[in-house]
Amino acid sequence: MAQCKSCGEDADELITVTVKGKKQRLCESCADEAKEQESIAEESEAVVQNMMGFKGRR
Ligand SMILES: [Zn+2]
Repeated sequence: MAQCKSCGEDADELITVTVKGKKQRLCESCADEAKEQESIAEESEAVVQNMMGFKGRR
């Protein structure tokens, strides 16, 4: 039995998810949430870069 680092509940299986460059072992529902938040974070980072006049490569 393994324990989820996020919600602290026991899970049969933990999924390794990379969040902000760090690997975390989470239960299935927390892993889904973490993946979702990660993609939102990437999007908002791109928005910030646009606002700062970051053009990227052409
Ligand atoms: Zn969990």
